[in-house]
Amino acid sequence: MIYFDNASTTKIDESVLSVVNNYNQNFFYNPSSLYGKGVEMSMEINKFKSTALSLLGADPFDSIVFLSGATEANNFAIRGALKKNGKLLVSNGEHPSVYNLAKQLKNEGFNVDYIKLLPNGQVDEQDLKQKLPGTTVVSIIHVSNETGAINNIARLSKIIKSYDNSIVFHSDGVQAVGKVDVNLTEIDCDLYTVSGHKIHGPKGIGALHIKKGVTLKPLLYGGQQENYLRAGTENLSGIAGLVTALDIAVKSRKEWAVVTREIKLLLSQKLKQLNKVWVLENEHSSSHVLVFGVEGIKSEILLHLLEEQNVLIGNGSACSSRYTDNRVLKDMGLTEQKIKTSVRLSFSKHNKLSEVDEFVIILNGIIETYFAKLLKR
Ligand code: PMP
Repeated sequence: MIYFDNASTTKIDESVLSVVNNYNQNFFYNPSSLYGKGVEMSMEINKFKSTALSLLGADPFDSIVFLSGATEANNFAIRGALKKNGKLLVSNGEHPSVYNLAKQLKNEGFNVDYIKLLPNGQVDEQDLKQKLPGTTVVSIIHVSNETGAINNIARLSKIIKSYDNSIVFHSDGVQAVGKVDVNLTEIDCDLYTVSGHKIHGPKGIGALHIKKGVTLKPLLYGGQQENYLRAGTENLSGIAGLVTALDIAVKSRKEWAVVTREIKLLLSQKLKQLNKVWVLENEHSSSHVLVFGVEGIKSEILLHLLEEQNVLIGNGSACSSRYTDNRVLKDMGLTEQKIKTSVRLSFSKHNKLSEVDEFVIILNGIIETYFAKLLKR
Protein backbone atom coordinates (compact mmCIF):
# COMPACT_ATOMS: atom_id res chain seq x y z
CA MET A 1 0.00 0.00 0.00
CA ILE A 2 1.07 3.57 -0.65
CA TYR A 3 0.08 5.93 2.16
CA PHE A 4 0.25 9.54 0.97
CA ASP A 5 -2.09 11.06 3.57
CA ASN A 6 0.28 11.95 6.37
CA ALA A 7 -1.13 15.44 6.86
CA SER A 8 -4.32 13.78 7.96
CA THR A 9 -2.58 11.45 10.39
CA THR A 10 0.68 9.54 10.77
CA LYS A 11 1.57 6.06 11.92
CA ILE A 12 2.65 6.02 15.55
CA ASP A 13 6.35 5.13 16.07
CA GLU A 14 7.10 1.79 17.78
CA SER A 15 9.30 3.59 20.29
CA VAL A 16 6.52 6.07 21.08
CA LEU A 17 4.03 3.24 21.43
CA SER A 18 6.24 1.44 23.94
CA VAL A 19 6.52 4.65 26.01
CA VAL A 20 2.71 5.02 25.91
CA ASN A 21 2.25 1.39 26.97
CA ASN A 22 4.78 1.73 29.77
CA TYR A 23 3.04 4.82 31.13
CA ASN A 24 -0.37 3.17 30.85
CA GLN A 25 0.82 0.14 32.77
CA ASN A 26 3.16 1.62 35.34
CA PHE A 27 2.22 5.28 35.70
CA PHE A 28 -1.54 4.94 36.01
CA TYR A 29 -2.02 6.80 39.29
CA ASN A 30 -4.04 9.97 39.33
CA PRO A 31 -1.73 13.01 39.27
CA SER A 32 -4.18 14.84 41.55
CA SER A 33 -3.94 12.21 44.31
CA LEU A 34 -2.20 13.44 47.41
CA TYR A 35 -0.19 10.29 48.12
CA GLY A 36 3.35 9.81 46.87
CA LYS A 37 2.44 8.03 43.64
CA GLY A 38 0.07 10.85 42.68
CA VAL A 39 2.74 13.46 43.36
CA GLU A 40 5.17 11.41 41.28
CA MET A 41 2.72 11.50 38.34
CA SER A 42 2.32 15.24 38.60
CA MET A 43 6.10 15.61 38.66
CA GLU A 44 6.26 13.50 35.50
CA ILE A 45 3.84 15.91 33.82
CA ASN A 46 5.96 18.89 34.87
CA LYS A 47 9.05 17.17 33.50
CA PHE A 48 7.29 16.65 30.16
CA LYS A 49 6.24 20.29 30.09
CA SER A 50 9.83 21.47 30.55
CA THR A 51 11.02 19.09 27.84
CA ALA A 52 8.29 20.28 25.45
CA LEU A 53 9.16 23.94 26.09
CA SER A 54 12.82 23.28 25.42
CA LEU A 55 12.11 21.24 22.24
CA LEU A 56 9.95 24.08 20.94
CA GLY A 57 12.66 26.64 21.71
CA ALA A 58 10.41 28.45 24.19
CA ASP A 59 11.31 30.34 27.34
CA PRO A 60 11.47 27.90 30.29
CA PHE A 61 9.09 30.23 32.19
CA ASP A 62 6.38 29.94 29.52
CA SER A 63 3.74 27.28 30.03
CA ILE A 64 2.28 24.29 28.27
CA VAL A 65 -1.23 22.96 28.75
CA PHE A 66 -1.85 19.40 27.60
CA LEU A 67 -5.30 18.69 26.21
CA SER A 68 -7.23 16.35 23.92
CA GLY A 69 -5.72 17.53 20.64
CA ALA A 70 -5.22 20.52 18.39
CA THR A 71 -8.94 21.11 17.92
CA GLU A 72 -9.31 21.70 21.63
CA ALA A 73 -6.07 23.70 21.79
CA ASN A 74 -7.28 26.04 19.03
CA ASN A 75 -10.70 26.46 20.66
CA PHE A 76 -9.11 27.05 24.06
CA ALA A 77 -6.58 29.56 22.72
CA ILE A 78 -9.11 31.67 20.85
CA ARG A 79 -12.07 31.50 23.19
CA GLY A 80 -9.73 31.81 26.15
CA ALA A 81 -8.09 34.98 24.83
CA LEU A 82 -11.18 36.69 23.40
CA LYS A 83 -12.75 39.11 25.85
CA LYS A 84 -16.25 40.60 25.75
CA ASN A 85 -16.42 43.13 22.89
CA GLY A 86 -13.17 41.74 21.49
CA LYS A 87 -12.47 41.44 17.77
CA LEU A 88 -11.10 38.24 16.27
CA LEU A 89 -9.06 38.18 13.08
CA VAL A 90 -8.35 34.83 11.43
CA SER A 91 -6.96 33.98 8.03
CA ASN A 92 -8.99 32.34 5.29
CA GLY A 93 -6.41 29.55 5.33
CA GLU A 94 -7.25 28.26 8.78
CA HIS A 95 -8.08 24.68 9.65
CA PRO A 96 -11.80 24.13 10.44
CA SER A 97 -10.98 24.03 14.17
CA VAL A 98 -10.20 27.76 13.89
CA TYR A 99 -12.32 28.78 10.90
CA ASN A 100 -15.57 27.19 12.08
CA LEU A 101 -14.97 28.45 15.61
CA ALA A 102 -14.64 31.95 14.15
CA LYS A 103 -17.97 31.48 12.37
CA GLN A 104 -19.55 30.32 15.64
CA LEU A 105 -18.11 33.30 17.52
CA LYS A 106 -19.58 35.58 14.89
CA ASN A 107 -22.97 33.94 15.49
CA GLU A 108 -22.49 34.60 19.18
CA GLY A 109 -22.10 38.29 18.46
CA PHE A 110 -18.33 38.76 18.35
CA ASN A 111 -16.74 40.98 15.78
CA VAL A 112 -14.88 38.62 13.42
CA ASP A 113 -12.90 39.39 10.30
CA TYR A 114 -10.90 37.33 7.82
CA ILE A 115 -7.48 37.89 6.29
CA LYS A 116 -7.15 37.14 2.57
CA LEU A 117 -4.64 34.71 1.14
CA LEU A 118 -2.14 35.39 -1.62
CA PRO A 119 -2.15 33.15 -4.69
CA ASN A 120 0.71 31.17 -3.08
CA GLY A 121 -1.44 30.36 -0.03
CA GLN A 122 0.36 32.64 2.43
CA VAL A 123 -1.63 35.29 4.27
CA ASP A 124 -1.78 38.70 2.63
CA GLU A 125 0.21 40.98 4.96
CA GLN A 126 -1.31 44.15 3.52
CA ASP A 127 -4.79 42.83 4.23
CA LEU A 128 -3.73 41.86 7.76
CA LYS A 129 -2.40 45.40 8.38
CA GLN A 130 -5.64 46.95 7.15
CA LYS A 131 -7.76 44.77 9.41
CA LEU A 132 -5.76 45.24 12.62
CA PRO A 133 -7.64 48.30 13.98
CA GLY A 134 -9.84 47.20 16.88
CA THR A 135 -8.50 43.63 16.81
CA THR A 136 -7.80 41.91 20.13
CA VAL A 137 -7.00 38.35 19.00
CA VAL A 138 -5.35 37.11 15.77
CA SER A 139 -5.03 33.48 14.69
CA ILE A 140 -2.87 32.51 11.71
CA ILE A 141 -1.88 28.99 10.75
CA HIS A 142 1.88 28.32 10.55
CA VAL A 143 1.85 25.68 7.80
CA SER A 144 -1.33 25.04 5.82
CA ASN A 145 -2.82 21.57 6.12
CA GLU A 146 -4.41 22.12 2.70
CA THR A 147 -1.48 23.33 0.61
CA GLY A 148 1.63 23.22 2.82
CA ALA A 149 2.02 27.02 2.41
CA ILE A 150 4.33 28.35 5.12
CA ASN A 151 3.47 31.63 6.84
CA ASN A 152 6.30 33.65 8.31
CA ILE A 153 4.89 33.74 11.82
CA ALA A 154 7.87 35.68 13.23
CA ARG A 155 7.33 38.48 10.71
CA LEU A 156 3.56 38.47 11.17
CA SER A 157 4.09 38.64 14.92
CA LYS A 158 6.27 41.76 14.48
CA ILE A 159 3.61 43.39 12.31
CA ILE A 160 0.88 42.64 14.84
CA LYS A 161 2.84 43.53 17.96
CA SER A 162 4.29 46.72 16.55
CA TYR A 163 0.75 47.83 15.73
CA ASP A 164 -0.57 46.96 19.20
CA ASN A 165 1.38 44.94 21.71
CA SER A 166 -1.77 43.97 23.60
CA ILE A 167 -3.18 41.93 20.69
CA VAL A 168 -2.99 38.21 21.51
CA PHE A 169 -1.45 36.28 18.62
CA HIS A 170 -2.16 32.56 18.23
CA SER A 171 -0.70 30.23 15.63
CA ASP A 172 -1.75 26.68 14.76
CA GLY A 173 1.55 24.82 14.43
CA VAL A 174 0.13 21.35 13.85
CA GLN A 175 1.57 20.94 10.33
CA ALA A 176 4.74 22.88 11.13
CA VAL A 177 6.27 20.84 13.93
CA GLY A 178 8.70 18.28 12.54
CA LYS A 179 8.44 19.85 9.09
CA VAL A 180 9.86 23.36 9.40
CA ASP A 181 12.03 24.98 12.04
CA VAL A 182 9.91 25.86 15.06
CA ASN A 183 11.64 28.11 17.57
CA LEU A 184 9.02 29.79 19.69
CA THR A 185 11.43 32.41 21.04
CA GLU A 186 12.14 33.58 17.50
CA ILE A 187 8.56 33.15 16.31
CA ASP A 188 7.38 35.16 19.30
CA CYS A 189 3.66 34.50 19.15
CA ASP A 190 1.62 34.28 22.37
CA LEU A 191 -0.05 30.93 21.83
CA TYR A 192 1.02 27.96 19.73
CA THR A 193 -0.82 24.68 19.02
CA VAL A 194 0.74 21.23 18.64
CA SER A 195 -0.90 17.82 17.98
CA GLY A 196 0.45 14.33 18.74
CA HIS A 197 -0.87 12.27 15.86
CA LYS A 198 0.63 14.41 13.07
CA ILE A 199 4.17 13.67 14.28
CA HIS A 200 4.03 9.88 14.68
CA GLY A 201 2.63 10.24 18.19
CA PRO A 202 -0.65 9.15 19.72
CA LYS A 203 -4.09 10.46 18.80
CA GLY A 204 -6.23 12.40 21.27
CA ILE A 205 -3.39 14.43 22.75
CA GLY A 206 -2.20 17.94 22.00
CA ALA A 207 -0.57 20.88 23.66
CA LEU A 208 -1.01 24.61 23.77
CA HIS A 209 2.07 26.72 24.41
CA ILE A 210 1.27 29.89 26.37
CA LYS A 211 3.80 32.69 26.56
CA LYS A 212 4.65 34.01 30.02
CA GLY A 213 2.22 36.77 31.02
CA VAL A 214 -0.60 35.72 28.67
CA THR A 215 -3.82 34.89 30.51
CA LEU A 216 -6.61 32.69 29.21
CA LYS A 217 -10.08 31.74 30.42
CA PRO A 218 -10.56 27.97 30.66
CA LEU A 219 -12.64 26.15 28.09
CA LEU A 220 -13.61 23.35 30.47
CA TYR A 221 -14.60 23.79 34.09
CA GLY A 222 -14.17 21.11 36.70
CA GLY A 223 -11.14 20.07 38.72
CA GLN A 224 -8.01 22.04 39.41
CA GLN A 225 -5.84 20.26 36.83
CA GLU A 226 -3.44 22.36 34.76
CA ASN A 227 -3.76 25.24 37.22
CA TYR A 228 -7.51 25.37 36.63
CA LEU A 229 -6.90 25.96 32.92
CA ARG A 230 -7.98 22.52 31.71
CA ALA A 231 -10.13 20.40 33.97
CA GLY A 232 -10.09 16.61 33.64
CA THR A 233 -7.67 13.88 34.73
CA GLU A 234 -4.47 14.30 32.78
CA ASN A 235 -3.73 11.80 30.01
CA LEU A 236 -0.22 11.01 31.24
CA SER A 237 0.45 8.17 28.79
CA GLY A 238 -0.66 10.45 25.94
CA ILE A 239 1.51 13.27 27.26
CA ALA A 240 4.51 10.92 27.47
CA GLY A 241 3.78 9.78 23.90
CA LEU A 242 3.37 13.31 22.58
CA VAL A 243 6.60 14.57 24.10
CA THR A 244 8.54 11.49 22.98
CA ALA A 245 7.19 11.99 19.44
CA LEU A 246 8.02 15.70 19.64
CA ASP A 247 11.57 14.90 20.68
CA ILE A 248 12.03 12.59 17.69
CA ALA A 249 10.29 15.04 15.31
CA VAL A 250 12.41 18.01 16.32
CA LYS A 251 15.68 16.09 16.24
CA SER A 252 14.93 14.27 12.96
CA ARG A 253 13.25 17.16 11.16
CA LYS A 254 16.06 17.85 8.69
CA GLU A 255 16.59 14.19 7.93
CA TRP A 256 12.83 13.70 7.31
CA ALA A 257 12.75 16.77 5.09
CA VAL A 258 15.40 15.28 2.81
CA VAL A 259 13.11 12.31 2.14
CA THR A 260 9.91 14.33 1.66
CA ARG A 261 11.61 17.03 -0.45
CA GLU A 262 13.03 14.45 -2.88
CA ILE A 263 9.63 12.76 -3.16
CA LYS A 264 7.78 16.04 -3.69
CA LEU A 265 10.24 17.29 -6.31
CA LEU A 266 10.37 14.10 -8.33
CA LEU A 267 6.65 13.51 -8.09
CA SER A 268 5.71 17.02 -9.19
CA GLN A 269 8.11 16.74 -12.15
CA LYS A 270 6.59 13.42 -13.20
CA LEU A 271 3.00 14.50 -12.61
CA LYS A 272 3.46 17.52 -14.85
CA GLN A 273 4.38 15.18 -17.71
CA LEU A 274 1.07 13.32 -17.47
CA ASN A 275 -1.86 14.11 -19.70
CA LYS A 276 -4.55 16.31 -18.09
CA VAL A 277 -2.66 16.72 -14.81
CA TRP A 278 -2.13 20.09 -13.15
CA VAL A 279 0.16 20.65 -10.15
CA LEU A 280 -0.05 23.47 -7.62
CA GLU A 281 3.35 25.19 -7.77
CA ASN A 282 4.34 26.89 -4.58
CA GLU A 283 7.87 27.81 -3.51
CA HIS A 284 6.95 28.75 0.02
CA SER A 285 5.44 25.45 0.95
CA SER A 286 6.41 22.57 3.16
CA SER A 287 7.95 19.55 1.48
CA HIS A 288 5.38 17.23 3.03
CA VAL A 289 2.38 18.49 1.00
CA LEU A 290 1.72 18.38 -2.74
CA VAL A 291 -1.56 19.42 -4.36
CA PHE A 292 -2.53 18.34 -7.85
CA GLY A 293 -5.55 17.33 -9.88
CA VAL A 294 -6.62 15.61 -13.07
CA GLU A 295 -8.78 17.78 -15.34
CA GLY A 296 -12.15 16.08 -15.69
CA ILE A 297 -11.87 13.74 -12.68
CA LYS A 298 -13.46 15.07 -9.49
CA SER A 299 -11.36 14.83 -6.32
CA GLU A 300 -13.57 12.31 -4.61
CA ILE A 301 -13.68 10.04 -7.65
CA LEU A 302 -9.91 10.13 -8.06
CA LEU A 303 -9.45 9.43 -4.36
CA HIS A 304 -11.59 6.29 -4.60
CA LEU A 305 -10.04 5.13 -7.88
CA LEU A 306 -6.64 5.36 -6.20
CA GLU A 307 -7.95 3.57 -3.14
CA GLU A 308 -9.02 0.67 -5.37
CA GLN A 309 -5.35 0.40 -6.33
CA ASN A 310 -4.26 0.50 -2.68
CA VAL A 311 -3.15 4.12 -2.69
CA LEU A 312 -4.47 6.35 0.07
CA ILE A 313 -4.49 10.10 -0.46
CA GLY A 314 -6.40 13.06 0.93
CA ASN A 315 -8.53 15.82 -0.47
CA GLY A 316 -7.83 18.69 1.89
CA SER A 317 -8.57 18.72 5.56
CA ALA A 318 -9.83 15.39 6.86
CA CYS A 319 -12.06 17.45 9.12
CA SER A 320 -13.92 18.90 6.14
CA SER A 321 -13.18 16.41 3.38
CA ARG A 322 -16.84 15.90 2.53
CA TYR A 323 -17.04 19.39 1.13
CA THR A 324 -15.76 19.64 -2.39
CA ASP A 325 -15.90 23.40 -2.22
CA ASN A 326 -12.41 24.10 -0.85
CA ARG A 327 -12.47 27.61 0.64
CA VAL A 328 -8.67 27.76 1.01
CA LEU A 329 -7.98 27.06 -2.65
CA LYS A 330 -10.84 29.38 -3.58
CA ASP A 331 -9.31 32.24 -1.65
CA MET A 332 -5.99 31.62 -3.37
CA GLY A 333 -7.79 32.25 -6.65
CA LEU A 334 -7.81 28.75 -8.15
CA THR A 335 -10.47 28.16 -10.77
CA GLU A 336 -13.56 26.17 -9.90
CA GLN A 337 -12.40 23.42 -12.26
CA LYS A 338 -9.12 23.09 -10.36
CA ILE A 339 -10.79 23.22 -6.96
CA LYS A 340 -13.22 20.44 -7.92
CA THR A 341 -10.41 18.19 -9.06
CA SER A 342 -7.81 19.00 -6.42
CA VAL A 343 -6.35 16.28 -4.24
CA ARG A 344 -3.67 16.46 -1.58
CA LEU A 345 -0.70 14.14 -1.25
CA SER A 346 1.20 14.32 2.02
CA PHE A 347 4.40 12.51 2.82
CA SER A 348 6.29 11.32 5.87
CA LYS A 349 9.58 9.66 6.76
CA HIS A 350 7.93 6.30 6.00
CA ASN A 351 7.53 7.08 2.30
CA LYS A 352 10.14 5.98 -0.21
CA LEU A 353 11.37 7.51 -3.43
CA SER A 354 10.45 4.25 -5.19
CA GLU A 355 6.78 5.00 -4.43
CA VAL A 356 6.94 7.94 -6.84
CA ASP A 357 7.19 5.75 -9.95
CA GLU A 358 4.68 3.30 -8.54
CA PHE A 359 2.22 6.15 -7.93
CA VAL A 360 2.71 7.70 -11.35
CA ILE A 361 2.18 4.36 -13.13
CA ILE A 362 -1.02 3.72 -11.16
CA LEU A 363 -2.31 7.26 -11.76
CA ASN A 364 -1.53 7.11 -15.45
CA GLY A 365 -3.44 3.83 -15.71
CA ILE A 366 -6.42 5.39 -13.92
CA ILE A 367 -6.44 8.40 -16.25
CA GLU A 368 -6.25 6.26 -19.40
CA THR A 369 -9.00 3.89 -18.28
CA TYR A 370 -11.25 6.70 -17.05
CA PHE A 371 -11.18 8.66 -20.29
CA ALA A 372 -11.32 5.52 -22.47
CA LYS A 373 -14.55 4.55 -20.68
CA LEU A 374 -15.95 8.05 -21.20
CA LEU A 375 -15.27 7.82 -24.94
CA LYS A 376 -17.10 4.47 -25.19
CA ARG A 377 -20.28 5.90 -23.65
N1 PMP B 1 -4.93 22.09 12.83
C1 PMP B 1 -4.39 21.57 11.72
C2 PMP B 1 -3.55 22.45 10.85
C3 PMP B 1 -4.60 20.23 11.39
O1 PMP B 1 -4.05 19.73 10.28
C4 PMP B 1 -5.40 19.44 12.24
C5 PMP B 1 -5.70 17.99 11.90
N2 PMP B 1 -6.33 17.82 10.66
C6 PMP B 1 -5.94 20.03 13.40
C7 PMP B 1 -5.68 21.34 13.66
C8 PMP B 1 -6.79 19.23 14.36
O2 PMP B 1 -5.95 18.35 15.07
P1 PMP B 1 -6.52 17.27 16.06
O3 PMP B 1 -6.88 16.08 15.23
O4 PMP B 1 -5.38 16.98 17.00
O5 PMP B 1 -7.68 17.84 16.78
